[in-house]
Amino acid sequence: MKIKIAEIDDTNSFFGGRVLKVNRKFLTPYRVSSSVDYRSKQQIPTAIKIDSYLSEVTSIFTGDEYNKFKTENGPFNNRVRADEQKADLMSYSPLVSYFPQLPKDIKVDKKGMKLILELGLDLDHVNIVSIPAFDPIKSYGEDLKKICEYIRSRGKEPMPLLDMGLNEAEFKSKFNEICSNIETGLINIMGLIYRNWRSNIQNFYHVWNNKDKKILYYCLGVERKYENASAMHFLQSWGIDVYSTRMIRGCGTYKRKLNNVDIFDKETIGILKYKNYFEKHPDGTLNCDCPLCNNAGLDEFVEKYGYNHEGELDASQLQYAGKLHEFFSSSKEFDISREAIKENALTDYFDSKEYLKSYRRNGSLDSVF
Ligand SMILES: [Zn+2]
Repeated sequence: MKIKIAEIDDTNSFFGGRVLKVNRKFLTPYRVSSSVDYRSKQQIPTAIKIDSYLSEVTSIFTGDEYNKFKTENGPFNNRVRADEQKADLMSYSPLVSYFPQLPKDIKVDKKGMKLILELGLDLDHVNIVSIPAFDPIKSYGEDLKKICEYIRSRGKEPMPLLDMGLNEAEFKSKFNEICSNIETGLINIMGLIYRNWRSNIQNFYHVWNNKDKKILYYCLGVERKYENASAMHFLQSWGIDVYSTRMIRGCGTYKRKLNNVDIFDKETIGILKYKNYFEKHPDGTLNCDCPLCNNAGLDEFVEKYGYNHEGELDASQLQYAGKLHEFFSSSKEFDISREAIKENALTDYFDSKEYLKSYRRNGSLDSVF
């Protein structure tokens, strides 16, 4: 994998962003198309394709499932089959990553590690394999190197996962250990498991302070909404390069009310509830030229995508359509903020978006300290 730093907007020491050129093909900041987006696409009647350079097979494990996966015969095969189906949908993406989404408190042991790696390595189309957080056998650095070399020997790209919720000392030490393998070309991607930035601010600053490193910072499992904002969009201000959405089991299968359907609004970078959308935009326009909306109003959008086969209004159906609209519309917004970074103007971009504004960390102290 080839990574070139194209631009860093560091006009403010607290806040900024960077543009990377990856494999001479795509530029960051970039929204990864994840299993959530592909699943949404399957649920709604549209021939529109997800055309993405980087996709992610997300595989949720509960603690119980992880234990059975490690000890029983059936779960391994079942999971390979389910994940293989997800990966097949992504066969058009040049880069496909594999992310085992494990509970926060699970540290993977030797046996679990072997099985999870084997799973990622076995999947066709997957070329980026996650290394889950693990308890070292010798030392973190030594074990990490060996695992990465093994993944490379199987022709795939290793992505060590680092939990952004670790305490500062452990986070920094592991972060630096991963970075010590950039020069040799052993590691090109760092997988950062998303945790609330307010509770882990030192870790986020550590990423920002390492914005000159030629490594792709890939934030996984990002919550869809933080306060009113689309959380993914403020992560670019920490120098984090690519982002994928957190997957929730069974989401969309329960009955949802129309008023509670979430709608991404590019004007504010908010995720608005349907019932609040009209307060913000009384004319009901979505202001969106994505292939799904095609400049339609919200009413028209509901008309087109909100009905099931029986012709009944189905809010779950609409939630899926809303997610796909969000994928396209939010990706386009990253095209715009990328241009702002190139012009050292990410602060202006944040200021122009109602729900991003409050995440624009002030640089006025720069002249004092
Ligand atoms: Zn749209």
